[in-house]
Amino acid sequence: MIWLRTAFLAIAWAILSLIVHASVGAPWGYIVMIGALTVILLWRAVRMQRVAQWARQPESTPPLSVGRWDDILAPLYRYTRTQARDIEAGREAMKSMLAAAQALPDGAVTLNAELQIDWANRMAQEHLGVRLPADRGHNILNLVRSPEFSAYAHQAEWPEPILVRVTRGHHDHLLMMQLTAYARDHRLLVTRDVTQIEKLETTRRDFVANVSHELRTPLTVLAGFLETLRDMPKEALSDEQREQYMALMTEQALRMQSIVADLLTLSTLESSPSAEPQRVRMSPLIEAARQQSEALSAGRHTFSWDIDPELDVLGAEPEISSAVANLLTNAVRYTPDGGAIAVRWTREGNGARYAVKDSGIGIASRHISRLTERFYRVDRGRSRAVGGTGLGLAITKHIAMRHDAELDIQSEVGKGSTFSLVFPAERLAETESPL
Ligand code: ADP
Repeated sequence: MIWLRTAFLAIAWAILSLIVHASVGAPWGYIVMIGALTVILLWRAVRMQRVAQWARQPESTPPLSVGRWDDILAPLYRYTRTQARDIEAGREAMKSMLAAAQALPDGAVTLNAELQIDWANRMAQEHLGVRLPADRGHNILNLVRSPEFSAYAHQAEWPEPILVRVTRGHHDHLLMMQLTAYARDHRLLVTRDVTQIEKLETTRRDFVANVSHELRTPLTVLAGFLETLRDMPKEALSDEQREQYMALMTEQALRMQSIVADLLTLSTLESSPSAEPQRVRMSPLIEAARQQSEALSAGRHTFSWDIDPELDVLGAEPEISSAVANLLTNAVRYTPDGGAIAVRWTREGNGARYAVKDSGIGIASRHISRLTERFYRVDRGRSRAVGGTGLGLAITKHIAMRHDAELDIQSEVGKGSTFSLVFPAERLAETESPL
């Protein structure tokens, strides 16, 4: 105990002074007493100074051997150390929480009761254009200028999110926004960009509408003929007329069959994973497509072939065969009689190119980027007349993607087109060494 030690020291010095006083005489007793007191005071002043110095930076190590101060400084130092550690841990937790909030895929903005911005993460900057620290204290309604959002923000509660269309740069975005109250009088605004989801939903709706439309025409024709055949007395129709009706009905039924078959192919390509790539022998595969297209052309076109027999690819044979044949039959169908079709399967750089060049009707540049959309046709009537479904290039593009290949389209109206499949080096099969 500090007071006990101090009292003990004072008594010890008093006794020593009394002994000196009794044995040597009074002045020496006082001298010893005063001298001792001076030394003690000086010594204490030095220690006090070291303690005072430490107190200015209590997180540093406390001075050693400062006598009785040790008993005070040690617990104090332990306390400040624990405090400093707690503060550091709190700071780290705060930092990691802020980093997590920054990394959120959604936008987050904290607001006060007056809807003034307090803090926002990076995504909120992207979604709403909030810039910190410049926008701190600004009302969120100045950034999101939408009457619907303003009405929503002034509601007492926000059980549901709201969809708000905002313009960023030159693009429109659809944001899903949700306000939530937290702490006392604070609001958290969470934003999510749902533009892509909306686009997918529109594509899905358009697709269903397109399929219905495509099937409705042949079905209407078919139903019309069936009705005529049912309602007309047998003798009112000549055999020739009946034959004609039957032929037209068969044509429409086949048309529906091709559409359904192409739709099934597309859906299989979209939903099934790619099979383990196998070596696909291109030369016989192109030969089969050649026979098919020359039969379709029936001598109306001149063909030329430049096929590298050594060049094979790694992939799925039925898929590549379908893509190769599709580009060839399109060339035949969209090239008027007397036209020329040139087919090449050759090396190009480290990869290879399958190119079908025709001298056909050609395609205006504004259509080219849309040709691989489902049911997109430059001339609907013409496509129908040649038995097209509008799905061939969509299927071909899908197949190309599954083989890391590119579908390249070059065309000029009235001059002709070149449709190519460009395979990268990784998709080429090593030439088999002769035994
Ligand atoms: P379709 O069944 O209508 O041929 P595709 O998806 O195969 O459908 O082709 C889409 C459209 O691209 C066609 O309707 C046609 O307008 C155009 N097209 C395709 N190939 C050619 C070509 N070789 N020359 C000119 N136009 C073509």
